[in-house]
Formats: sequence, C-alpha cells, structure tokens
Amino acid sequence: MTRKVIIAGNWKMNKNAAEATSLVNALKPLVAGIDNCDIVVCPPFTSIDAAVKAAAGSNIKVGAQNLHWEDSGAFTGEISASMLKELGVEYVIIGHSERRQYFGETDETVNRRLGAALDAGLKPIVCIGELLAEREGGETEKVLEAQLEGGLVGVSIEQIAGVVIAYEPVWAIGTGKTATPEMAEETHAYIRKKLISMFGYQAEKVRIQYGGSMKADNSATLVAQPNIDGGLIGGASLKAESFAELIKNAIA
Ligand code: PEP
Repeated sequence: MTRKVIIAGNWKMNKNAAEATSLVNALKPLVAGIDNCDIVVCPPFTSIDAAVKAAAGSNIKVGAQNLHWEDSGAFTGEISASMLKELGVEYVIIGHSERRQYFGETDETVNRRLGAALDAGLKPIVCIGELLAEREGGETEKVLEAQLEGGLVGVSIEQIAGVVIAYEPVWAIGTGKTATPEMAEETHAYIRKKLISMFGYQAEKVRIQYGGSMKADNSATLVAQPNIDGGLIGGASLKAESFAELIKNAIA
C-alpha cells in the first residue's frame, strides 16, 4: 500500500507571530512544487494566524499543538476545535510526550481530544511512545498497546484512515539520540500490526510518523522503511533550510 509521506514540524513554544511569518515565507520557495509529501507546520496558538496567512496559496499546511475536547465554556486557558478551524488550521497534534510528561495528559484525555478533532474535521496526529526505562525494561510493546487501545477508543473503521500516528520514543526527543532505522521499523511494524488487529485492513492506510531527533541526514533512511510514513520534527523544523532539506531527503 502506498501512503503519502507526511512531515510535520512541531515548533513547540518557539516563534512569535513575526518569526512565524518569516519562517513560513522562507520555507515556501524551498519546498515549492513538492506534491508527494504533506508538509505541515505547527506553531504555538498565538502564531497560528500569522502562519496560516503566510502559507496561503502554498503547499504548506498549518497544524496546532493541542486542543480541548469541549467546544466552548468555562475552561480557562483552553482552545477548542472550532476556534482552530476558524483560523484555517488543518491538523492538530494530540498527546505529545511533553504534554503527557508536564501537563498531565493521559490516554483518556488524548482520546477525548481526538474525538473532538475528528468531529470537527481536523486531521489528528496522535503521539505515542515509550520512556527509556520502559524500552530498557522490555515493555515497549505493552506501553504502545495501552496507548493505542486507550487513545483510540470509539474511533470508527471509517475514521481511522484519517488519523496519523506519531511514534516518538521519548528518549529520542530533543536528545540527538535517534532510534536506528531498523529499530524504528520494528516498532512501526508492531504498531501497524496492532492497528490491523483493532481496525482491520483500513489500518494499512494509517500513516505512522517517526519522531525523535529526525534531521536532514537521517530522514532518508528512516522514511525508506516500509512502515515509516514520515516524521514529526522538533528542533530541525525551526529553520527553513534544515526543514526543507529534511523533507527533500525523505522523499528522494
Ligand atoms: C518532537 O518534539 O516531536 C520531536 C521529535 O523533537 P526533536 O525532533 O527535536 O527530537
């Protein structure tokens, strides 16, 4: 099954509105004409509007880094799916390990956010991944299984093809330590097998990104693996040149 590569930049808490405009404007000519890869940038909420305006008419799509499951109400500090849609957001990252680690995100809250995203027609990027101690303890598959089973409750067979899964071994995020392509593929293949057991053949359509210190010099070998369909990129997405090079190498 051919799946379209998807490379998304997670800018985290970086780039104000002016910087977002500059970054998208710098990226546009570098990736112009690329149509065999979905290119997504995910700025902080306050820079989304600027990024959407700068990306208008280009092949760059904009995503958010989180959303709340309610549409409106007394949820101080939260942002809903309809608010993101109004800004022109197409994708949304859900359950990033930093949110799990620092902001109390659980598989249950991931699942609620996912439901809201799907109901609103946003394309979700659901993050899963094991801690170093879990990998070293031989628990990787058990951890991923629980995250998939808990995070994807209630997702229908029709909906699953539109969900992107980002496999991010937590020990590889921002550390410069990348899983070897073989190690990453082994885990991606496990994730695919688990998704097939949950959703049947539709799971063949699910794009599974790798995330964790993906850079221009390793994106080609990672994305060449049969079950690695792209990347979720932190550090290397903050400069137009490094992000564009990473994308071009991944699809070369
Ligand atoms: C991430 O934050 O999702 C990530 C993969 O970060 P980095 O590329 O910097 O490891």
